[in-house]
Amino acid sequence: MSDESQRWKDKYFACLEHQEQLERHWAERLDLLRRGLVRSSLAAEGSDRAVDECMRALREVVRGEQPEQGLAALLPRLEKAVLDSERRRQQHTQQNVAALSALAEQLLQLELPREVRKGLKQFLRRVEARITEHRELPAVLAELSGLQYQALQRFEGSREARPGLLQRLFGSREGADLATAGVAEAAAPGPSAPPAGETAIVPPEAAPEATAERSPAGAATITLDSLPLDPGLLLGESAGDPAYALPAAEPGYSAIAPHVAASLRRLLDELDLPAFHRPQAEALRQRLEGGLNWYELVPALDDLAVLVLAVADGGQREFAGYLQQLNERLADFLGSLNSAQEGYADSQENVRQLDQEIRAQVGELQQSVQEAADLDGLKRSLESRLEKLLGRMAEYRQQRDRHDQALQQRLNGLVERVACMEQEAAVFRERLEQQRQKSLVDPLTGLPNRAAWNERLELEVARRRRYGGELLLAVLDVDHFKRVNDSFGHQAGDKVLKLVAAELARRLRKTDFIARYGGEEFVLLLPGTPPEGGRQLLEALRQAVEACPFHFKGERVTITLSGGLAAFVGEATAEEVFERADQALYRAKDGGRNRIELA
Ligand code: GH3
Ligand code: MG
Ligand code: MG
Repeated sequence: MSDESQRWKDKYFACLEHQEQLERHWAERLDLLRRGLVRSSLAAEGSDRAVDECMRALREVVRGEQPEQGLAALLPRLEKAVLDSERRRQQHTQQNVAALSALAEQLLQLELPREVRKGLKQFLRRVEARITEHRELPAVLAELSGLQYQALQRFEGSREARPGLLQRLFGSREGADLATAGVAEAAAPGPSAPPAGETAIVPPEAAPEATAERSPAGAATITLDSLPLDPGLLLGESAGDPAYALPAAEPGYSAIAPHVAASLRRLLDELDLPAFHRPQAEALRQRLEGGLNWYELVPALDDLAVLVLAVADGGQREFAGYLQQLNERLADFLGSLNSAQEGYADSQENVRQLDQEIRAQVGELQQSVQEAADLDGLKRSLESRLEKLLGRMAEYRQQRDRHDQALQQRLNGLVERVACMEQEAAVFRERLEQQRQKSLVDPLTGLPNRAAWNERLELEVARRRRYGGELLLAVLDVDHFKRVNDSFGHQAGDKVLKLVAAELARRLRKTDFIARYGGEEFVLLLPGTPPEGGRQLLEALRQAVEACPFHFKGERVTITLSGGLAAFVGEATAEEVFERADQALYRAKDGGRNRIELA
């Protein structure tokens, strides 16, 4: 073989060896690629059914003999499945963003401390960008859960340490701290339904009998028998008599916060505070006017308690001061009387002395006359004695005048003092009467309260015992009133009570008596009324209340009441008659409510 041939031969073998090396290399690469594809396909599984199927097919193709052909057929299918899956994923992301944003928005409706509001707003701004990263979802949920926990913690002391559902699922730093401190479970006394509308996480349950009715006029009507407990269902156009419009319910604690603040302000106004405590009261009033957050309530109550105690103490001190002053005045008065008495005794003594002196002078005069030897002597003697007598008389008159003047002054002083004491006593009497009147009136409705009822009941019973005549006693109770509070809030409940009270009171005669017995219960005394007349009156009251055009956000709300009526017969005591009326009321409730029953 020539050199040339040998060179080509060597070259051929070198190429062959290189070729074999390359083939081994490609086989290794292909194997690696196959394994990588199989693993990737396994990892990609689980997010979408169509993609999963493509992945299974991909694995078969890759494991097969001629993957190129299989892959060429599979790729368009895979491409479409991935695109569809991506579109669905984006939809899900949008849904997640919307749901989480709605949760955060709802929390923002609550009255929250600034830092929680800030956190929620930041969360809202960033949620969309973060949630596109699927793996961020748990972190996003944990953050919202932490914020929700902080927000709700402000609302109910009993629930404050109990983390929310999201919180428990995903945890957060704060929740973890609490849990490790052992507070979370210990401070949760048990399940308590959240106030309606507080959060939308757990929608309040509808009343079992809840149905909406349509009145003939076509306006939606809510009777309390059919009242849905979710105020969200009651949204609508505002309409109707504004006097009967029920204020809108707010979520959670804020629903009763104005009610609490108004009651506290009313209490503060009623306090007749000593000057020393007035700045403190003013500061508290300003805090109340700014509205109270949940966590501000306890310190505000504490401050109010201090003021109430100061008033009680101040009142007692004022009364003790008045008694002390009265005592001093009386001692003074007695002193003046004593000196007048002494003056009188002095002047008696003076008169007696004068009498004696005059008698003595007159006796001496008589003697001088009898013993007189000559007229001149007699004349001189008479003149001197008469002079003495006149001098004594003038002295006595002067003394008397001085004495009378002093007495007059003392008397004037006494009269002034008595007038002053009478005035003070009148002021005190008036104040006591005012307090007594206040203690007899229910501040919410302005009707007589239970204490006034007890007084009047005693009086009417005594009058009947003495003069005879008919006397009826009635107990009225607003139906399903708790639902009014639960559905529309306490403020609405209060307004209903006020208007119902006014409606009842204005339909009674002057001799009738109505009082708020407590809560949503009213009691009536109807003297000189036969049972049938009483029943008709109560029926008219019932109808009047039912006809009151209450409305909430444009929806008619029907308020009804039930009543029990009993007559005093024979020697029945007030307690017995009340008991009978109460039993009749229970029959009315059992019989379906919105009715009057006679005992
Ligand atoms: P029923 O028809 O059987 O009488 O049911 P009800 O819901 O009216 O009776 P219940 O005794 O269960 O509830 C009375 C409610 O009245 C509970 C209480 O919160 C509420 N309430 C009592 N006093 C006031 C008040 O001054 N203002 C307000 N808003 N609610 C009050
Ligand atoms: Mg009731
Ligand atoms: Mg009741």
